[in-house]
Amino acid sequence: MGDAKLISVVIPVFNEAANLDELIRRCLGACRKTGRPFELILVDDGSLDASGERIETAVKQNPGEIIGVFLNRNYGQHAAIMAGFEQSKGDIVVTLDADLQNPPEEIPRLVNCIDKGVDVVGTIRAHRKDTIARRLASAIINKTVQKSTGVMMHDYGCMLRAYRRHIVAAMLSCNEHSTFIPVLANTFARHTTEIEVSHETRIHGESKYDMLRLISLMFDLLTSMTTFPLRLLSTLGVIISAAGIGFGLFLLVMRLVYGAAWAVGGVFTLFAILFIFIGAQFIGMGLLGEYIGRIYHDVRNRPRYFVQRVIGEISVSEPNG
Ligand code: UDP
Ligand code: MG
Repeated sequence: MGDAKLISVVIPVFNEAANLDELIRRCLGACRKTGRPFELILVDDGSLDASGERIETAVKQNPGEIIGVFLNRNYGQHAAIMAGFEQSKGDIVVTLDADLQNPPEEIPRLVNCIDKGVDVVGTIRAHRKDTIARRLASAIINKTVQKSTGVMMHDYGCMLRAYRRHIVAAMLSCNEHSTFIPVLANTFARHTTEIEVSHETRIHGESKYDMLRLISLMFDLLTSMTTFPLRLLSTLGVIISAAGIGFGLFLLVMRLVYGAAWAVGGVFTLFAILFIFIGAQFIGMGLLGEYIGRIYHDVRNRPRYFVQRVIGEISVSEPNG
């Protein structure tokens, strides 16, 4: 493996004017330290503050090192990173946040890991500087993702990550609109690893994720991985129906043993029947869900597989037939 591999650093920027100058300075420093060719790709995700101008001046001041990508409006962090991926040419692609919570000085370490033959390098935030609620939400998310992708990673929320070119190419060939990049990357990766990095508090600006956006992100994550919740409806329906039938049988027995007065003149029986129908409705919804799930998979139009490389050659011969 030669040392001349191009490194692309992709950073989504949304209203981060106060952080940009330091970010760019530290990133350039870290990239130069690797001694390899690199490009710093700053994606302006429709910022309303001076971020755009800051990026423009940085591009002028550091010719040949920085690429600015400007989106016409705010599409969200993951869409912005995708836009950056599309512009990137590096054999190794590193992503990080613009808010300096992820120290850019860690970039060389990530690159080293990729050099060792790993496809995706994740990071674990040591001594995470976030609120307890944020940490709890992350813990739940990490557990579910682990279950459904089968890839062991402890921290999906940390965007300081590195990917090999073919992983980025695979992600770019996915058409779905709601993506969660770390999870998407892992569905294409064979060898992954995680390293521990430090985590800083945000000094300038505030987190772009309020409660609503976090919830929306969580649903993006869940639906991008699995349609299992839809199936849950059918299961729930079967359980409710079975309970209704059981309840009905129980009433019948009690009615026979203790006489008509026991079941309050049929009111309880009505409940039993109601339960059976509610259950049936859930089964119906679940069935609809099964169809919707399949439609979703098709509409999303993900490539069914991705060929990383092809080796071996056949000698050229005329096809016989
Ligand atoms: N970001 C973005 N578009 C958005 C929201 C966020 O490009 O709509 C960027 C933001 O500028 C930062 C990164 O995504 O570089 C992470 O955002 P933030 O620090 O607010 O998230 P948190 O650290 O709270 O998870
Ligand atoms: Mg942050």
